Amino acid sequence: MPLRSSRTSFHRIGEFELIRSLRRRFGQTGRSVLRGIGDDAAIIRLPTNHLLLVSTDLLAEDVHFDLATATFEDIGYKAAAANLSDIAAMGGVPQHMLVAVAIPGSCKSSEIERLYRGLMHACRRYGVELVGGDTSASRQGLFISVTVTGVTEPGQALRRDGATAGDLLYVTGTLGDSLAGSNILRTRIRTKGKAGKGQHKRHLRDLIERHLRPTPRIEEGQLLATHHLATAAIDLSDGLSGDLAHVCEESGVGAEIEIAALPLSPACRSYAAAYRLDPSNLALTGGEDYELLFTVSPGNRAKLDRLARRARYRFSCIGTIRPKGFGLRVKHRNGSSRRLPLTSYQHFQSHRATLGEAEWFR
Ligand code: ADP
Ligand code: MG
Repeated sequence: MPLRSSRTSFHRIGEFELIRSLRRRFGQTGRSVLRGIGDDAAIIRLPTNHLLLVSTDLLAEDVHFDLATATFEDIGYKAAAANLSDIAAMGGVPQHMLVAVAIPGSCKSSEIERLYRGLMHACRRYGVELVGGDTSASRQGLFISVTVTGVTEPGQALRRDGATAGDLLYVTGTLGDSLAGSNILRTRIRTKGKAGKGQHKRHLRDLIERHLRPTPRIEEGQLLATHHLATAAIDLSDGLSGDLAHVCEESGVGAEIEIAALPLSPACRSYAAAYRLDPSNLALTGGEDYELLFTVSPGNRAKLDRLARRARYRFSCIGTIRPKGFGLRVKHRNGSSRRLPLTSYQHFQSHRATLGEAEWFR
């Protein structure tokens, strides 16, 4: 249901009318929700003998998203996907979402509606229902806080603290694509959006899509959890080097990554070649890929590979967990080894454009 007039700003429409409209449009829920939007708190029926997972993320305009390079739908989709990725990293089944927004006077009601359309698009893909939130005016910039719940069975949750020396280090999907996509989007503003042709154009589109519409690895996480295959897991939001450091710190271990084993997409390789960048560096430091990083005891390797093949999941073994004293190191193709650079993703506005970026758009 459109709000009173799509041109009207939120501040003129007011909080209650916005909530009424969101409730009408996005508030339908199934049987587990006894009370959704419209009461002081939602009432949810939990499946018996399950544990509740709860996670929240706060996104601030010009820190986490840029309205010059993403649509409101994109921002909503990604806000939901990033939260769902946290539930994926715990091996849980996502269930419900709460969304709090602080809206500046410059925002139109139709834009907030589009933000929710994006959010709900991601939610519907994973069977997640909107059960509440909060609404405020903002004096400057848009803020979005998303809270998601999920469930897991006792003893199945994937945690960061279970890795031991000798475990194998795995990731899902490919790495570095989101950073490449983010660089392309920002360069595109400066080059007035000139895209290339054919294969090149497809690569650009793929990388931008990976940045704006990341895929939370929900099913992969559940596979690892239900088969007790991962000793530890985390989702890659800050970048491989930073997030691996979190797992190692929580688990009290070190790790070694094999550069040659990092999974790179053809699009990322071709982007890196055009910029004369090392694609492994994109994979090591690029944030917001939302892939899962997990550790597996060597005895479970064959089972993991078999299940991954059957489900057609891309799992790549990228290294090994070492004792704490080993630290965090990367092994290069020529056998030499160096300490892992601990630069992790610092949000879009801190990335400097690389000289020669415009070449990519020819
Ligand atoms: P309260 O004053 O008790 O916080 P509100 O008027 O803020 O109540 O909210 C009324 C209902 O609308 C609650 O169920 C709340 O969860 C829901 N709600 C408020 N804002 C949003 C929003 N931005 N998105 C989704 N649900 C919302
Ligand atoms: Mg409220």
